[in-house]
Amino acid sequence: MGDCSVKVAVRVRPFNSREKEEGAELCVEMRGNTTKVRNKENGTIKEFHYDYSYWSHDGFNEDPTTGILTKASPSSQYADQQTVFNDIGVGVLDNAWQGYHCCLFAYGQTGSGKSYSMVGYGSNKGIIPIACEEVFIRISQRASPFIECKVSASMLEIYNEQVQDLLQPPQNRVKGGLKIREDPKKGVFVEGLIEQPCSSYEEISAVLDRGNKSRTVAATQMNATSSRAHTVLTISFTQIFYDEATGKPLNRKQSNINLVDLAGSERAAKTGATGDRLQEGSNINKSLSSLGKVITALAKRSSGQLAKGEVIPYRESKLTRILQNALGGNSMTTMIAAISPATFNYDETISTLRYADAVK
Ligand code: ADP
Repeated sequence: MGDCSVKVAVRVRPFNSREKEEGAELCVEMRGNTTKVRNKENGTIKEFHYDYSYWSHDGFNEDPTTGILTKASPSSQYADQQTVFNDIGVGVLDNAWQGYHCCLFAYGQTGSGKSYSMVGYGSNKGIIPIACEEVFIRISQRASPFIECKVSASMLEIYNEQVQDLLQPPQNRVKGGLKIREDPKKGVFVEGLIEQPCSSYEEISAVLDRGNKSRTVAATQMNATSSRAHTVLTISFTQIFYDEATGKPLNRKQSNINLVDLAGSERAAKTGATGDRLQEGSNINKSLSSLGKVITALAKRSSGQLAKGEVIPYRESKLTRILQNALGGNSMTTMIAAISPATFNYDETISTLRYADAVK
């Protein structure tokens, strides 16, 4: 593996019922790895290229209203949850099996499909539940008396630059948030974070449910919605290899699989934020921009372009600090850029696609 490799996928969600009722116009088109977005105001078309471009409906069943891109993307662009997992999730697990840390995150404005891609809804599972299932399938398929596999999961939330453990009951939340520490052996870690050992898909599923519930409760208590927090699920995967002759442990590989549902990337101006909300918005933007900066600095470093004395700005936000072990070094980063199909969201869509362009 190279020093830093970033894979980027863009996924457009279908129109929601409100947009359909209002006759929302389509401004996105996908062909192969090319995504085009049309500006209704001046008719210009911006083109972007990513590793994967995913359409959400088989051919976008809606009749596009006049004045918009008239050709719906071909059905070959359609991707269901399993396709997305096969393209980008399998590589993440392969890496984990080799002992590398990895980070897969979903970026986009609120309502663009981040949770749909990461978590999914009910039986329409997203990357996180499919990956969790796959981890245990692989462990059983590759079972050997000389390899011991251990899995544990932790789940945290970063809201307003404060870190909270989602596996703790809400009443146990720490005022001011949990501390981030650094250890020469462990690297960067969150002090006191619960790491729940899991020995089956059912067990890890229960952990996810617990975390998701706590996420909602906390959001309600703060009079916020979970879209304003970054959620990080970390699956720690350890393999211990034993000597076949002596039965003694030979070596171990440990990897953290970080699956991140980022806070909505919408700009404060559009949401009309003032006061506390503005502060919250600026913290979200700070984390997102520092994540972008870290990834681009890592890319510069791996191509030898990082200026002398220039550091990777991990310390700029809690998010990048927590993901520090998994960003850079022998690690793999994957991003899903979630976008809306509607002309109304043109500005946010372009800003998401630009961000995705900058990190790839
Ligand atoms: P976010 O997490 O970015 O705020 P959601 O994942 O909640 O957004 O998505 C908003 C809505 O759009 C949900 O109702 C979801 O079911 C729907 N949706 C998003 N992406 C897709 C998709 N690829 N296919 C079908 N429905 C989608």
